[in-house]
Amino acid sequence: MSNKSTVDNLMAELSDRQQTLSLGDRAFNLDKLASDTFDLLVVGGGITGCGIALDASSRGLKVALIEAYDFASGTSSRSSKLIHGGLRYLQQFEFGMVREAAFERHLLTKLAPGLVSFLPFVLPVYGTIKDSFKYRAGLLAYDLVSGRKSGHRHRTLSKTELFELSKLIENKSLKTAYEYADAITDDVRLTIQIAKVAASLGCTLSNYLQFISFSKNGSDITGAIVLDRQTEKEFTIKARQIVTAGGVWTDKLGLPQQSLSIAPSKGSHILLKADRMLPPKAFTMTSPSDRRLVFAVPWYGTVFLGTTETPYKGDPSQPLVTKEDAKYLLETINHQFPSANYGEKDIISSQAGLRPLLKQKGKSLSKTSRKEQILRLSHNLSCVGGGKLTTYRPISARVVDSIFPHLGMPKWAASITSNIPLLSRIAEQPAHNIETSVIHPLTKASPRTYFYQSVKHSETTEDNNPLQCACFHTESQVHYCLKNEMVITIEDFLARRTRTILLDPQNGTVAAEQVSNLMGQTLAWTEEQRLAQLDSYMRFAKQHQINTN
Ligand SMILES: Cc1cc2nc3c(=O)[nH]c(=O)nc-3n(C[C@H](O)[C@H](O)[C@H](O)COP(=O)(O)OP(=O)(O)OC[C@H]3O[C@@H](n4cnc5c(N)ncnc54)[C@H](O)[C@@H]3O)c2cc1C
Repeated sequence: MSNKSTVDNLMAELSDRQQTLSLGDRAFNLDKLASDTFDLLVVGGGITGCGIALDASSRGLKVALIEAYDFASGTSSRSSKLIHGGLRYLQQFEFGMVREAAFERHLLTKLAPGLVSFLPFVLPVYGTIKDSFKYRAGLLAYDLVSGRKSGHRHRTLSKTELFELSKLIENKSLKTAYEYADAITDDVRLTIQIAKVAASLGCTLSNYLQFISFSKNGSDITGAIVLDRQTEKEFTIKARQIVTAGGVWTDKLGLPQQSLSIAPSKGSHILLKADRMLPPKAFTMTSPSDRRLVFAVPWYGTVFLGTTETPYKGDPSQPLVTKEDAKYLLETINHQFPSANYGEKDIISSQAGLRPLLKQKGKSLSKTSRKEQILRLSHNLSCVGGGKLTTYRPISARVVDSIFPHLGMPKWAASITSNIPLLSRIAEQPAHNIETSVIHPLTKASPRTYFYQSVKHSETTEDNNPLQCACFHTESQVHYCLKNEMVITIEDFLARRTRTILLDPQNGTVAAEQVSNLMGQTLAWTEEQRLAQLDSYMRFAKQHQINTN
């Protein structure tokens, strides 16, 4: 069969199937995981693991995926939300990586319209004409390396635009300003969408299912012993090949000595009120203290500002934004926009994440390559580390390419994910280009507009009472997520299926009570379980305020 007809058949199949991850599916999947033998078991439900599961399932493999907590609960919910070529990687001469990322940026706007959209970035330039030339040369190189298929080329702002900008910036040494395009997404929704498509292609997956150790026959790995964190029961999953995509947890998976060595690097963001300065476009700024690039990005009606870069040694599950991190970011934005005069009181919430960087001798964190590494640890075990949200798809394809020859299959199928849409037609929005992206839902105040299927669902049901938060979500969306998105804890709903924890000034702590009652009814929680859930959420919500310890 030709590649084209394989894809056409797949698409017909996909549109017939519902893309859901229901709780019923979880129970069904657990039985299947315990009884079947899989071609491939993927450990880790971040964007890398979900991408591998989708790629392998679409090539006809029988795939299982396990995630110890919730899908995207690790680094994949804590990124800068950019699908970008990576302007600053040009300084490190990573031309191949920038080119691949720029290609993916363009492709993902097509595969996930509305979920990945182009966004204009303004780069003001100060100082001398020489400085303007330097930035111009950088942007020309970005256009050139990105290639014709990347989408958009940079331009110089017109005199009128520059005048408007100079009023905002109040800096007399503003020489010129450029506009270039990158893309914006919601990292969690992108990861979950990938998981849903993988599930619709036959992947058996579950959250709250933790890898404990390898099951062995003598010294031969035959599968994995896993723990269902809901019931505390252990069981074994049989698999012919295993790949770990455990991000910053890779060192903790008990892999053989020669596996990847991860150096976690913490990146902090703060979300600011957009009342005095909602940039319809994103701004690229340099920090006055260390000249690093910092981005102020319009995200669901807030200013999403980041990031920092510091080495990290603590618990990978609990990176926090410190007072110093917040000070660094506030100084940078106030240096750029003095009249905005942002202070700590204007911070809605914060988010810290850990980059799963691969240790590289003699290189500083900011100079460490973001390129992934795939290691073959035995004849049936691989691990992958590093990488970026943007390039999850080619990374996943390379992982599956490296595994295929070891499956002993007569036919070697090539990756077809560049042809698999991530959103069903009902979710599609008109394509956005650089001019119209200012009206993109991710940059608007109401995430309600973006929460496609659930919005559709809530508009056709009667239990449409609003949740007590500043995010326009409704009770029916809790029901929708319980039914369709494998929501198990309050945190799953308020922190990841919706981004209430980041967007609501009270971090969703008021809505949590209401959500706990709704979830408790469906999941038959005892009062003790409901209170334990609430307590756990309150502690998690606190991690999204500035840490003063
Ligand atoms: C601050 C910051 C900003 C970033 N910004 C961008 C950006 O704008 N654009 C971009 O392209 N990239 C960005 N990145 C990089 C990108 O976010 C990461 O490369 C990507 O999310 C990594 O995904 P992952 O799946 O490899 O790791 P993770 O998302 O961390 O997934 C690993 C998963 O493994 C699970 N796991 C761990 N142990 C077990 C176990 N025993 N059993 C089962 N599961 C287990 C974890 O719970 C976790 O969910 C950023 C990163 C950071 C930190």
